[in-house]
Amino acid sequence: MSLIVAGSIGIDNIITPQEKQEGLLGGSVSYAALAASVFCKPVHLCGVVGHDFPKAHLDMLAARGIELDSLERSSGESFTWTGEYFEDMNTRTTHKVGINVLEHWKPKLSAQAAAAKIAVLANMSPDNQIQTLEQCKGAEFIAADTMDLWINIANERLHDMLQRIDLLVINEGEAKEFAQTTNLVEAGRRLQAKGPRYVVVKRGEHGSFLFGVGPQEFFSCSAYPLSSVFDPTGAGDSFLGGMMGWLAASGKSKPKFADLKTSVAYGSVTASFTCEAFSTQRLERVTSEDVERRLVELRGYTAFAG
Ligand code: AMP
Repeated sequence: MSLIVAGSIGIDNIITPQEKQEGLLGGSVSYAALAASVFCKPVHLCGVVGHDFPKAHLDMLAARGIELDSLERSSGESFTWTGEYFEDMNTRTTHKVGINVLEHWKPKLSAQAAAAKIAVLANMSPDNQIQTLEQCKGAEFIAADTMDLWINIANERLHDMLQRIDLLVINEGEAKEFAQTTNLVEAGRRLQAKGPRYVVVKRGEHGSFLFGVGPQEFFSCSAYPLSSVFDPTGAGDSFLGGMMGWLAASGKSKPKFADLKTSVAYGSVTASFTCEAFSTQRLERVTSEDVERRLVELRGYTAFAG
């Protein structure tokens, strides 16, 4: 089963307490598509790059079985983002965003991408997410991510988008801000009331919560325990891509709650690899066997008898 993933793609500059690296592959769709490609092929990537975008990044994505048939090559400059992490790696400051080619971009899906049964709207403006989903004629399941920027500057469009998706995947701080409550369980339920049947709240190193229909459908998943984190950029996007890639590979375009629980565990484990190197450097080399090994470990760490 094929998958369409749309979002930002660009050049990241990342500073951590240990290191600074520039000119890295970044963007929500880069991580989400790579993560999905661990499980399923083809993954159709929809995004826009500028004239300055390194060909080597596109070659790497193509070599991973990612179809670039819905990637626009613009004459403008590529999207860029510069961020810095501090001692605990959970806090991040954005220093600079160059919207560039994203400013006037309108996503255009190829016929094959539009026919995909599962659609992933990785982080980008709610306008771009709606423009994408309107072309996803074959999609039986649509998942989306968002960020604080859109909660603040495009709140109404974000609400429109939420009416049209099946699953929202959002991080803890943003979920609380968006739902206007400090109680995470209440936040999840309030976000469901905005439209999506399912909500996943990502809690970084503390795991994730999945909210389904009614109080019975609740699942808490651990994060895979890592003793060192090099660069958490894109972990959230990898989580989403891993979840959806596993669903597509399993032929589950109409997933039940139990399927979503399993996919959350796959998303969680996939995201753990992303944190082990800068940018997509570790994710690019992950195999499904690597993921399966960590999944067995994660099960052992969280299951108990009695
Ligand atoms: P995450 O760490 O999961 O929040 O994702 C980080 C990625 O999001 C980076 O690679 C950035 O290039 C990308 N990003 C940052 N700001 C934006 C934005 N305003 N729109 C789209 N993508 C962004």
